[in-house]
Amino acid sequence: MSKHIFVTGGVVSSLGKGLTSASIGMLLEHRGLTVRMQKLDPYINVDPGTMSPYQHGEVYVLDDGSETDLDLGHYERFTEGKLTRDSNYTTGQIYQSVINKERRGEFLGKTVQVIPHITNEIKSCISKLADEDTDVVITEIGGTVGDIESQPFLEAIRQFSLDIGKENCLYIHLTLVPYLKAAGELKTKPTQHSVGQLREIGIQPDVLVCRTERSLSRSDREKIALFCNVPIRAVIEEKDKDFSIYEVPFSLVDNELDELIVRRLQLPAETLVLDDWQDLMQRLRNPQSEISIAVVGKYAAHRDAYKSIYEAIDHAGIAHCSQVRIQPIQSEQIEAEGPERLLSTYDGILVPGGFGERGIEGKVEAIRFARERNIPFLGICLGMQCAVIEFARNVVSLEGAHSSEFDKESPHPVICLLDDQKTITDKGGTMRLGAQPAELEPGSIAAECYGATSISERHRHRYEFNNVYRQQFAAHNMQFSGTSPDGKLVEIIELTGHRWFVAAQFHPEFKSKPTAAQPLFSGFVGAAVEHHAARSSRSHEASRSDREPWESSS
Ligand code: GLN
Repeated sequence: MSKHIFVTGGVVSSLGKGLTSASIGMLLEHRGLTVRMQKLDPYINVDPGTMSPYQHGEVYVLDDGSETDLDLGHYERFTEGKLTRDSNYTTGQIYQSVINKERRGEFLGKTVQVIPHITNEIKSCISKLADEDTDVVITEIGGTVGDIESQPFLEAIRQFSLDIGKENCLYIHLTLVPYLKAAGELKTKPTQHSVGQLREIGIQPDVLVCRTERSLSRSDREKIALFCNVPIRAVIEEKDKDFSIYEVPFSLVDNELDELIVRRLQLPAETLVLDDWQDLMQRLRNPQSEISIAVVGKYAAHRDAYKSIYEAIDHAGIAHCSQVRIQPIQSEQIEAEGPERLLSTYDGILVPGGFGERGIEGKVEAIRFARERNIPFLGICLGMQCAVIEFARNVVSLEGAHSSEFDKESPHPVICLLDDQKTITDKGGTMRLGAQPAELEPGSIAAECYGATSISERHRHRYEFNNVYRQQFAAHNMQFSGTSPDGKLVEIIELTGHRWFVAAQFHPEFKSKPTAAQPLFSGFVGAAVEHHAARSSRSHEASRSDREPWESSS
């Protein structure tokens, strides 16, 4: 039987519940256990796919095509357990399912209520992940304890331990212990209140993970333990990490959280071996080079909107032992100021995916700059579509070329809707979604990066390269290095004669891990490292040749 860990959050939102849950999952896997992870989101949207990145950060896509909360990205980056549609449920989905059952008459005319019908549905969603192959199911409850919306979820996880036995469930509460400058001390009261609220519902947390700027003293821990009714060793400190999020698991190990979980749930665990993660930290701490990458997008000020992209760049930096400075650049700013001042200092330019017309011309300008200046370029989804538009207009001389997403009247719709997308009117879950196979051209940059010619990557888009233009583009040195197995859909383009110019219709960022950089990201960052080195030795040469003959060269 699987054991269950429930992670709740208190005091404030944005404490990093996702990261903590993912770190716990990673530690348990590194003790030889099989783990499945899940997030229950209290908001009413039926799927996170329709939510604005402004509000909720990126939409994270799984192999099975489900569009999920970005915390699932943390889960996949930290752990190996497979994530599926069952790994993320929202209040909207829960209610929709209960209402559908009611419509089908499954409740036999009974009054349908939050307790037991909604809570039963939530419990059945949690149970879906439990099976004989899974040692631990980790369920993170979104939101903050005390929110009206989270109540049914908390009620359901309370009931869960009644159903399967207290000894098979562990409740971890993540809380904030703020430092009050005026008082010169850490304050435990918010934690006491938040645990108080949990206990009102009937949940006594087993472990408190305390997010804090400063180390907890022995007396802080004693106080928290006493007031919150937990043993002192279950008061775990999780101090802010300035250096890297990949330090989080190590600080949990320092506090022996893995040991506590294993003992309390009586898990058949092995000793902890963290070699791969130690190697990762070693590389992070000892970079051999430093480069900078410009990410030209629409949501420059919202780091969560491109979360997986920034992470994937970091992973590629780790693989190349290079410290990568990522600079988000608002594409509209390029429209206003031109690319020269904004982009000329970067070692690589990346244009991410997106929807809507705002900032498109700035992206096209940025890509032209990367192409003409021979700067390593990686385009992703909309980034590939913009690269196609740029190439059409400026290389193939197709005036007015555009995507039919943005210009229905374009004389050259080089990016267009596929026939099976033309009849779709619903917005939620109707794109080309999830893992799809692709075949790569032997000898291409893409095939070299992957070290393979058959790959699978995740998609999330409606528009595609318009095949009418394939030959014309190929005649101008655009290589279609990746296509769907039937050859009909263009999945990767690259430019021959350019230092490194690759763009993909899929989203490679969703399959990158800190311990295994995604191949295209790795190729891109590798090219940027080389470009940087070549540039610095050129400028070194230039400054030498600037010297007058009588100047010393030392
Ligand atoms: N808007 C484009 C499409 O739907 C690109 C989507 C994306 O970048 N994810 O095809």
